[in-house]
Amino acid sequence: MKVKKFLFSGIAAALTAGALLSTSALAQKDWPTKSINLIVPFAAGGPTDSVARLIAVPMGQALGQTVVVENVPGAGGTIASTKVARAAPDGYTIYLHHMGMATANALYDKLPYDPMTSFEYIGQVADVPMVLLGKKDLPANNFKELEAYIRANGSKITMANAGPGAVSQLCGLLFQSRMGVKLTNIPYKGTGPALTDLLGGQVDLLCDQTTQTIPYIKDGRVKAYGTTTLKRLPAIPNVPTLDEQGLKGFEVKVWHGMYTPKGVPKPILDKLNAALKKALNTPDVQKRLADANIDIVSQEKMTPNGLKTHLDAEINKWGPIIRKSNIPD
Ligand code: ASP
Repeated sequence: MKVKKFLFSGIAAALTAGALLSTSALAQKDWPTKSINLIVPFAAGGPTDSVARLIAVPMGQALGQTVVVENVPGAGGTIASTKVARAAPDGYTIYLHHMGMATANALYDKLPYDPMTSFEYIGQVADVPMVLLGKKDLPANNFKELEAYIRANGSKITMANAGPGAVSQLCGLLFQSRMGVKLTNIPYKGTGPALTDLLGGQVDLLCDQTTQTIPYIKDGRVKAYGTTTLKRLPAIPNVPTLDEQGLKGFEVKVWHGMYTPKGVPKPILDKLNAALKKALNTPDVQKRLADANIDIVSQEKMTPNGLKTHLDAEINKWGPIIRKSNIPD
């Protein structure tokens, strides 16, 4: 009798589990049935926001639902990463972040998430170069003059960044470490507002991505002292690299990845990956990214494994460099 009861409840449980499984399989098949939130870890109007908004529309078209960009700025992107790690794994929260996903590990004592275990990976997106910029009326007209100006003025010079974990902060810290100086570092919620202040002359220096800086460099509204690439950029060929001006090997290429919270079912991840690929292969997206000297990644990198492998390598690459650099605040 007892055995029978046990057997019966076992069968009932199996049936319930089966029903649940088929419901969730159905939900996965129908997904998405409502709009999807694309979290951006920096302020609106900045480089990460721009890339996100550029791909949100074609991704939404591919998925048949709107992809809504939500800016969750602060603490160099770690507030947004925490929010995404804690979000429901239903595919309605997706996340675009750059290499700060790898560098934050070495910049913070303890993070409430683990980049290697708290997320699912959709794929890499694009690589963006950076430029060291100065406000228009900074007396230094080239890198050599900037060096002299920095030696003479030291911490009187202000340098903007988007907080620890932001690439502007990483670039700034590497620059100051290589120059052997400590400037006054000013954190913002993104380089969108930092660039506004650079244009307004409220801050002296900013290392920013090319996403929206090229027009300002071309029309002389900011000074460009050097690129963080080993080759000059086709869009601004007159701006030398930092490498060729004495900072040998100075290279920061800002790679981007798309994530979801851990536990999103594979069929949904596959749909997201297909939509991302479709968006990045759209001629309009390709043209707009190319205009800003942004490289779309290879099809191989546009995969969950392409992102995960790269993230792992980048955590191992940047940890020792950051620890050796004696981070300024
Ligand atoms: N990419 C960030 C932004 O969109 C800033 C940064 O990482 O420096 O504002």
